[in-house]
Amino acid sequence: MKILVTGGTGYIGSHTVVELQQEGFEVVIADNLSNSNIGVLDGIEQITGNRPLFELVDLTDATATRDLFSRHDDTRAIIHFAALKAVGESVEKPLEYYANNLNSLINVLVGARACQVPGLVFSSSCTVYGQAETLPVTENTPRRAAESPYGNTKMMCEDILKDVARVDPSLNVIALRYFNPIGAHPSARIGELPVGVPNNLIPYLTQVAAGIREELRVFGDDYNTPDGSAIRDYIDVVDLARAHVVAIQRLLEGKNTRNHEYFNIGTGRGLSVLEIIRAFERATGVKVNYRIVPRRPGDIEKVWADTTLANETLGWKATTPIEETLRDAWRWQQASR
Ligand code: UDP
Repeated sequence: MKILVTGGTGYIGSHTVVELQQEGFEVVIADNLSNSNIGVLDGIEQITGNRPLFELVDLTDATATRDLFSRHDDTRAIIHFAALKAVGESVEKPLEYYANNLNSLINVLVGARACQVPGLVFSSSCTVYGQAETLPVTENTPRRAAESPYGNTKMMCEDILKDVARVDPSLNVIALRYFNPIGAHPSARIGELPVGVPNNLIPYLTQVAAGIREELRVFGDDYNTPDGSAIRDYIDVVDLARAHVVAIQRLLEGKNTRNHEYFNIGTGRGLSVLEIIRAFERATGVKVNYRIVPRRPGDIEKVWADTTLANETLGWKATTPIEETLRDAWRWQQASR
């Protein structure tokens, strides 16, 4: 059963390819390598014993995407990860973000319809909820106007998918709203590969622990939270990858109740930045040099998921304890030096 994974050499994509292959799916990766590297295929092969087929394609190129689908017209489902994802950069380069993230989805949808692919899973984000009034957020929590072009592309892509699914009942879509993906494969063969200075907490933290950077800046200790630092729902990347496999199986087995569904993919538990630092130190025995600095503009105070729908409807649950996730992140950091 052939699954097309766009952005399959990226962070979440590569972990998902591993889980798909381990479930016996045949995977074709389409990626332009703009924020990933071909060596990831070696890591996937070392873990699974199986090298996925790789197609170097720019999905914003309509002709190239059409040709991709004609070479793989037996694709049974698509997982569409390929997108630009740096919040700050999107503020500086809005047109690049809109052009890339919207056009690639549109071209993939055109291809999916031409080949009558029945299922598509889309990478969405809890960013669509913004700072919700009530926590935890459920899938029915109202979406809020996005704070960045990046966040806006996630909202717009969700809307494009909803409109297309409405007129095409043979296309079944699941949008997974990720909370904060962290960690790495326990084998330390694949993980997150930040280019330059990391923006995200965990890669920055592990680089500080490794002595690559001097100190972790904790953005704000004056939030309305128990210890004053901001709270997120950190989800292990392998647990997250498995959610995609379950979503694909749901679509292929025709178990979806509507042809357009959303699921929150998190742990259901919020942790503060300071709690993460302490958990990392406990898990690895390595001290993290940190300093409290002012809040980062655009950051929300707190968010975590109500995962009841994913737990009960998808039959999926995050199971990896945070210490284990942080140990995996640390092992990956040490392996990639
Ligand atoms: N954060 C931090 N220092 C850093 C990077 C992030 O204190 O160097 C905080 C950030 O303010 C937020 C949390 O860690 O509260 C998660 O940030 P990240 O950028 O990883 O994900 P986001 O939730 O912004 O998508």
